Amino acid sequence: MVLPTRNRRRMTLLLLHLLTWQEVETYLQASKGIIVPIGSTEQHGPNGLIGTDAICAEVIAKGVGDAASALVGPTINVGNAQHHLAFAGTITLRPATLIAVIDDYVSSLARHGFERFFFINGHGGNISTVGAAFQELYAGASLRRGGSAPLRLKLKNWWETPGVHRLSKEAFGSREGSHATPSEVSVTQWAYPEAIKRAAMGEANGRVRDFCDAEDYRRLFPDGRIASDPSLATPEHGAKFVETAVHDIAEDYRKFLMA
Ligand SMILES: [Zn+2]
Repeated sequence: MVLPTRNRRRMTLLLLHLLTWQEVETYLQASKGIIVPIGSTEQHGPNGLIGTDAICAEVIAKGVGDAASALVGPTINVGNAQHHLAFAGTITLRPATLIAVIDDYVSSLARHGFERFFFINGHGGNISTVGAAFQELYAGASLRRGGSAPLRLKLKNWWETPGVHRLSKEAFGSREGSHATPSEVSVTQWAYPEAIKRAAMGEANGRVRDFCDAEDYRRLFPDGRIASDPSLATPEHGAKFVETAVHDIAEDYRKFLMA
């Protein structure tokens, strides 16, 4: 099945913010699992949207929720993006703030009986901080010992499934790069065709060493991209990436609930 452009209305509305509290109680009788999309608000090169990482995480999370009959929580759409702050429009949370946000988000839902939290991530810069947040939550549970229901947390990066890897290799090869990639820009073009941007761009700089702060990043990568050619992005590619990511990640979610 290839998802047609803008089919979101046909999806089941298992989105937390579109339910009533009674519906959430009913859901909890059938499942203790919830999907949490997490992204970032940061520059994505000359034709990429500032919201790329949040948009990718959200549309794929909605697809997975639909495929697996799972509830999807509100998107955490600002992440750890300090290294992009030399480009206009970027917003960051400090790592300590993001850890606190995730802690409160999960703890609120755990209070109602949710036990399994499956984060679908759109931003590489969130990985270590989300890992630290999970350790904080587990530490809290361990220190309370026996006080609360078991908590299970998992982070899934949407671009790291076998199917998505294969697609990106076939479609873009080495021009995928690692930031402002044609894959992620394609997903946003599928999700928001009215916001497709065109921009002239030459070859992007590659990564010669790890970047540090925002000024350092901009010196190394003046137009924001890292080794990518997002001029190759199309909404048609985006439809395939969403379909493949949803298929692979829905399978992971089902396993996560059983394990
Ligand atoms: Zn991105």
